[in-house]
Amino acid sequence: MPETLYGPARDMMARFLGPLGIHAVSYDPRLDAGIAALLDDTTRLVWVESPGSTTLEVQDVPAIVAAAHKAGALVAADNTWASHLLFKPLDHNVDISMQALSKHAGGHGDLLMGSVAVRDEALFRGLKDTARFLGYGVSPEDCALCERGLMTMPVRMRHADATARSIMEWLSGRTEIAQLLHPSLPDHPGHTVWKRDFAGSAGVFSFVLRPELAALQSKVLGRMRLFRLGASWGGVHSLISVSDPRRDRLAPDWLKRGPVWRLSIGLEASDDLLADLSQAFDLFAEALRNGAALADAKAAE
Ligand SMILES: *Cc1c(COP(=O)(O)O)cnc(C)c1O
Repeated sequence: MPETLYGPARDMMARFLGPLGIHAVSYDPRLDAGIAALLDDTTRLVWVESPGSTTLEVQDVPAIVAAAHKAGALVAADNTWASHLLFKPLDHNVDISMQALSKHAGGHGDLLMGSVAVRDEALFRGLKDTARFLGYGVSPEDCALCERGLMTMPVRMRHADATARSIMEWLSGRTEIAQLLHPSLPDHPGHTVWKRDFAGSAGVFSFVLRPELAALQSKVLGRMRLFRLGASWGGVHSLISVSDPRRDRLAPDWLKRGPVWRLSIGLEASDDLLADLSQAFDLFAEALRNGAALADAKAAE
């Protein structure tokens, strides 16, 4: 599993599958074809998540699939960020494609559901039995909500992407930001592979804040009126979640130091979101202009 794996999936690997004798190895998501060196005849499954959670590293999925299949392992992809609209794992010979429908498909932050898609009949039977034995099920109401969400999903995703790009443009001119993370940006390490394999981008991106502003974060977040704090994404309301992904990375060499804010852009008007960010960021700007305040913040860290 890539070290950029969705956090709760990593927990499940360690605390649920581990005790059952299923051993997981965490790998650098940028290994691509180099993953071959980690595979042996005990490897059953290679998990990919591209782009990765929070830091959005793009993986060369076709190269990983080629290496895994050569070693006799299956490949599963968490395709939640892109969804079936922007990336089709099965078309790249991935064996198992999963997606949290709670995000883009549900689209309103009020649904918990996921999907698993495979081509192989025997694999399908095995997965369906496992879901039944583990007691997985979804309610008819949730299915109806998901179906309704699917009808507006392309429009919502296009809107969120366009708004995200205007917000990233604004952020790129801000001195508070150390690094913007989104594969649509030409200087993102995954940009070339993203362009080759994906039909577009989702309105979920991150930025690294300058480390000396860390102590001011909660004040700035508290000033936001439209953006809310939240770990989910793909809904109608724009959300921010704050984390420190460098803690889980083996080789965060390309990632600048500082807290990471992940933004999920919703359906609000872009000007309103920019105004909200701008008034909250005034606090950061003020601190940067005022060296003394920054020194205080640093001492408080
Ligand atoms: C949210 C998310 C999931 C799990 O979604 P839930 O339906 O909320 O459990 C899995 N993978 C990724 C990448 C996600 O962002």
